[in-house]
Amino acid sequence: MNISADFTPSPFTLNDLMKVPLLDLKAQYESIRHEIEPVLLKVAEDQAFILGPEVEALEQNIANYIGAKYAVGVSSGTDALLLAMMALGIGEGDGVIVPTFSFFATAGVVARLNAMPIFVDIDPETYNIDPVGIEKAYAKYKGDVNIKAIVTVHLFGQAAHMKPIMEFAEANGLHVIEDAAQAIGSAYMDERRVGSIGTAGCFSFFPSKNLGAFGDGGVVTTNDEELAHKMRLMRVHGAEKRYYHEMIGGNFRLDAIQAAVLNVKRKYLDSWHESRRKNAQKYNELFASQDDIVTPASVYEDDSSPLHPFTSLRFPHIYNQYSIRTPRRDQLMANLNEHGIGNAVYYPVPFHEQKCFADVPSARDAFPVADQISAEIIAIPVYPELTSDMQEYVANTIKSFL
Ligand SMILES: *Cc1c(COP(=O)(O)O)cnc(C)c1O
Repeated sequence: MNISADFTPSPFTLNDLMKVPLLDLKAQYESIRHEIEPVLLKVAEDQAFILGPEVEALEQNIANYIGAKYAVGVSSGTDALLLAMMALGIGEGDGVIVPTFSFFATAGVVARLNAMPIFVDIDPETYNIDPVGIEKAYAKYKGDVNIKAIVTVHLFGQAAHMKPIMEFAEANGLHVIEDAAQAIGSAYMDERRVGSIGTAGCFSFFPSKNLGAFGDGGVVTTNDEELAHKMRLMRVHGAEKRYYHEMIGGNFRLDAIQAAVLNVKRKYLDSWHESRRKNAQKYNELFASQDDIVTPASVYEDDSSPLHPFTSLRFPHIYNQYSIRTPRRDQLMANLNEHGIGNAVYYPVPFHEQKCFADVPSARDAFPVADQISAEIIAIPVYPELTSDMQEYVANTIKSFL
């Protein structure tokens, strides 16, 4: 801005002109372009586009980071879920327990395999699947379908309450598929990272996730050698030797260009998580005196931070999203839009209310928590490059609205 001697203040303050996006990938790119551009060029020079050494390096990199024995790079987070379920033999006549509050893919893949999704309500503090609800749904539907698996979504980057879920799954011979699409690097209370706890961990490299590619991509992690092998085959149409098909799979391959970008970005992931946590902590403080805003029940920060109601332990959150709640959500959204502040509702319609699931028997159950959360929740900018001025502008706009 050019401030001259005869500058007269306009009725607008500087803040009114500030724009804050929900996510700023260009800012991230500026900080790493010197490392990204050479690897992009190398892929162009090599002209080797699919799977190959960059993908293998990424798989090793992710397996080490997550603490899982195997990682299989795939074409998206959705395909990670689909491939894991296909390799576990989930199909017609089977049931899969899923939280009713998640991104569509979590339940969509179950229905695509002609299996029945069984919806369960969420915990009001973390918005993750309610372990008690799992037991009730299992008892209610086990006579109708062969329930084979539970999907735990680590929503917004915070681990679901895995301990009771793993115990229940083991006692009943169920697989646990972790939908860790939003939670790469997030850890559970015993410090294991999500994706290393269940039968399989499914991750997405969609650009807006904490580790984002230059397009679609994903990975499945597992400690089960046989499952890893089967997924590697199914990723290439079920053929170990080309044109000789042992089983039916699909094209679930990851591109070299995505792996090359991800191998660079992976080095910065923990520092990006840390910046997101700092931003979340700052919002928590800025909103602390505000009774009409519910902030995330995060339990990462330090010894004085609130404890998780189930466990008295802390769950390191990676804040893929920082979502607050208010009963005046829709008005707040309009107000943020007027002030140039990026925001989004994850998710406005739970699975049990989706038209495409109207015939799913469990859609008629009661989901009071998900109904309330989906009407009140709204995500605000928390990305690592957010400046403190921007953050204060966001918080002040919200506070003066409420
Ligand atoms: C993003 C996401 C997916 C799907 O990942 P894509 O890479 O977009 O296919 C699945 N589940 C959850 C919870 C997600 O957030």
